[in-house]
Amino acid sequence: MKAKELINLEDRFGAKNYKPLDVVLSRGEGIWVWDVDDNKYLDCLSAYSAVNQGHCHPKIYQAMMDQARKLTLTSRAFRNDQLPLLYEELCQLTDSHKMLPMNSGAEAVETVIKCARKWGYESKGVADGQAQIIVCNDNFHGRTLSIIGFSTDENARENFGPFTPGFKTIPFGDADALEQAIGPNTVAFMVEPVQGEAGVIIPPKDYLQKVRQICTDKNVLLILDEIQTGLGRTGKLLAEEHSGIQADLTLIGKALSGGFYPVSAVLSNEAVLGLLQPGQHGSTFGGNPLACAVARAALKVLVEENMIENAEKIGTYFLDQLKKIQNPAIKEVRGIGLMIAIELEEGTQGGARAICESLMKMGILCKETHTYTIRFAPPLIIEKKDVDWAVDKIKAAFA
Ligand SMILES: *Cc1c(COP(=O)(O)O)cnc(C)c1O
Repeated sequence: MKAKELINLEDRFGAKNYKPLDVVLSRGEGIWVWDVDDNKYLDCLSAYSAVNQGHCHPKIYQAMMDQARKLTLTSRAFRNDQLPLLYEELCQLTDSHKMLPMNSGAEAVETVIKCARKWGYESKGVADGQAQIIVCNDNFHGRTLSIIGFSTDENARENFGPFTPGFKTIPFGDADALEQAIGPNTVAFMVEPVQGEAGVIIPPKDYLQKVRQICTDKNVLLILDEIQTGLGRTGKLLAEEHSGIQADLTLIGKALSGGFYPVSAVLSNEAVLGLLQPGQHGSTFGGNPLACAVARAALKVLVEENMIENAEKIGTYFLDQLKKIQNPAIKEVRGIGLMIAIELEEGTQGGARAICESLMKMGILCKETHTYTIRFAPPLIIEKKDVDWAVDKIKAAFA
């Protein structure tokens, strides 16, 4: 079927909750994807960092096929022989005591909200029903009801209320604001180390260190949503390492499966995750053997193939090359590891979308975030020669 026909089908039968570029992909390998007409593109989005390991990584693929032949789902009513191994490997890798497996990122966020509230009531002694969680302006933590309730993006919230109470919003990157916002009922502060969907917003250098100190001093849990920043994207396994801190609860997802399957996790210490008792939380698919086998392989290749070091090295190079582009439409180029953004001057004709459309014609796929920001986040296996190729095209798109 031709691209046009597929697009028409999608428009006719699909809910229009996305506005995709009109490119219909049918194949992917490493950093490249191909459309139904066999045009080749460099993927500079990596499915919002879910394919950090590159498309269809052969080792993750093999692990998935091997496991699919043996056993896919048991539910947690019974044990399976993959989950304990994922527990051990992930906890050792991230220096966590415990983990709780879920599927999508939003489910991990919902889970952490439940855990933080429970800790507040049972450990901190907050009065029943009074727990408060502090979050940041322009946050992105997913699309479920309680999560959009504390979003500051009107488009994400409009006409979806009433919302879950118990959240308070403060500016991102402002540690003093956190200190002032914390009250006796505050149980947690949840934040992205770098705001991804907001347009790769990097906080001041000492922000997370200060935040860690404030949370410790005031007996408030620090929750880092590393669903996008984690697993190598910023040039470290977890972005918290840039600040030399450890969160009380860390969320990962997306690249935890290398893009093969939805797998997410809440990582934490005994003091918080240890409070959950049987029957108080769960998921039919969470922790299933197929997911666990895929996640184990995804983590293994990330480490063994030095993807994290590559993200750091090539990310720095990519950023430096982009910074050299001279164009009056460019307001700022910023990034950390392979999480990079070009922000255009407000009012630039066509906005970021126009640049993304021209880049698509030149063989690079990326997506605007908001009106004036273009994000570049290729798979972590990208090489210098590919970056050089891409930067030439990006220059041409601006010219
Ligand atoms: C993508 C993302 C989520 C939500 O993950 P889903 O799998 O889409 O539910 C949550 N937090 C952050 C920071 C994300 O980037």
